[in-house]
Amino acid sequence: MIRIYGKGASKGITEGTLYFFRRSEPLIEKKYAPDSEAELARFEAARQLAMQQLSALYHKVLEQVSEGTAALFEAYRMMLEDDDYIQTVRENIFTGICAEAAVQETYRTFERRFSLIDNDYMNARIADIKDVSDRVLRILCGVQPKEIVMEEPVILAAEDLSPSELAQLDPNCILGVVTAGGEMYSHTAILARTMGVPAIVRAGKRLTDLYEGKYVMMDGQTGELAIEPDGLTTRRLKKKQAKERAMKELMDRLKGKPDVTVDGQTMHVYCNISSPDDLDAVVANDGAGIGLFRSEFLYLQERTFPTEEQQFRAYRAVAERMNGKRVIIRTADIGADKQVGYFRLDKEPNPAMGMRAIRIGLSRPEIFKTQLRALYRASAYGKIAILFPMIASLWEVQEVKRQCKAVQAELTAEGIPFNPDTELGIMLETPAAVLMSDQLAREVDFFSVGTNDLTQFTLAIDRQSYTLARFFDAHHPSVLRMIHLAAENAHCAGIWLGICGELAADISLTETFLALGVDELSVSPPSVLPLRSAIRSTTIGEKRDQILKSLWNPTA
Ligand code: PEP
Ligand code: MG
Repeated sequence: MIRIYGKGASKGITEGTLYFFRRSEPLIEKKYAPDSEAELARFEAARQLAMQQLSALYHKVLEQVSEGTAALFEAYRMMLEDDDYIQTVRENIFTGICAEAAVQETYRTFERRFSLIDNDYMNARIADIKDVSDRVLRILCGVQPKEIVMEEPVILAAEDLSPSELAQLDPNCILGVVTAGGEMYSHTAILARTMGVPAIVRAGKRLTDLYEGKYVMMDGQTGELAIEPDGLTTRRLKKKQAKERAMKELMDRLKGKPDVTVDGQTMHVYCNISSPDDLDAVVANDGAGIGLFRSEFLYLQERTFPTEEQQFRAYRAVAERMNGKRVIIRTADIGADKQVGYFRLDKEPNPAMGMRAIRIGLSRPEIFKTQLRALYRASAYGKIAILFPMIASLWEVQEVKRQCKAVQAELTAEGIPFNPDTELGIMLETPAAVLMSDQLAREVDFFSVGTNDLTQFTLAIDRQSYTLARFFDAHHPSVLRMIHLAAENAHCAGIWLGICGELAADISLTETFLALGVDELSVSPPSVLPLRSAIRSTTIGEKRDQILKSLWNPTA
């Protein structure tokens, strides 16, 4: 038996024959081309054909997988309409090189640009630009994309696999995917997760076609690939597989059931998302709403400020897809660990406590106003609520509300529809906000506790530090007491309180949160059903007093 470890990219245990995908690489024979106009025309024709192919792929994926996943190929098509991309190819051609070399050079320019951004999600976008550029390149070189023909379902192995290549496959013929390279956040990995196909990335050079045709077992969670597994490994993986299947059946039975305890206390379970791409997972896991849409993604993926129109389209799409369920969109939490070059923020020694989130909004009203206008416009298309991050003072909330009113007045004057009753909420991420929550509660419609930052600022421990990880205790009684205090103040003012930090998904605290009076928990989509299971099997009743006593009066 040979065992190879990569990175688990899509959960699930599977077994089958290993089949290697070999791509026909386009070969650029002649690099220099003096007739630039002719090369430009060749590029233009290839670009048009590539866009047609991507439209066809969009419709195929829409039919076979989902709308959210199909949207990727629409985004690819739009990449080919991007002025910057087209202009870079054009400029390259006019240096005297052929269209093929110009496309290749353009991809390299974008690759360099994106790899300078210190962000895994953005780095994974390099693969998307490569996928699009390769498509144009293959058309220019007259290379047919390799058809992957399988007689029986297989585990597909490859050096790397692009989203287009994966999407073209019949999901019924793919038992699993393992690649030598690849990224967790690549669209190939995202696609595998959406298709429910177990996947391993970064298996490394040991994954060679010497193993073609061998029987393998793989675990898409741990990243283990066992080639010709021995008895012990087979038994271990089969046992885990049976357990996962039983769990999945149990979870499927919970879909459509209310999030309510045995004794009737409701706890809404919403989802955290970072981009509209995550909506498929929300729907598949039956999230009751969106508790936190980190709108930063819109800013992180652009090289300049996203326009009001771009933002409006994204927010509207989420609101419409959630079909009347609450969608809480947080205004941009840029700064700290989410730096965006074009904001040109000064370098600070402590960016987590520096110019970030609402502080940028209040210091640069033109950026903030654009986002507020987009949010209010989108509010006409679903149940949008707006959430403001990193609030510390009452005046900040009052100023934010003043700006909301001003935006509403503007939209009214322009005859643009919006929902004037759009709920406004604030994040409780600073001890200051928690301690002022009695007054803050009178200003807003809801609170959402960001336990990641609240723990950081309460314990004075950098949430990013590996060396301090053992001191970073989100279960710390000070954090739990703060949640209780804020929940009491919220309820006194007649508003609700949720939690959207990582702690919300911690099932060992579900009973505690119910006892503290938390009304909503917002978690990543795969955590929804396990959390629902925990809520539905809890009877909080008499335990409440016990839990509160041990929190506030442990020695009595
Ligand atoms: C938090 O701080 O808990 C939170 C949800 O916000 P973020 O993790 O995006 O800072
Ligand atoms: Mg935060």
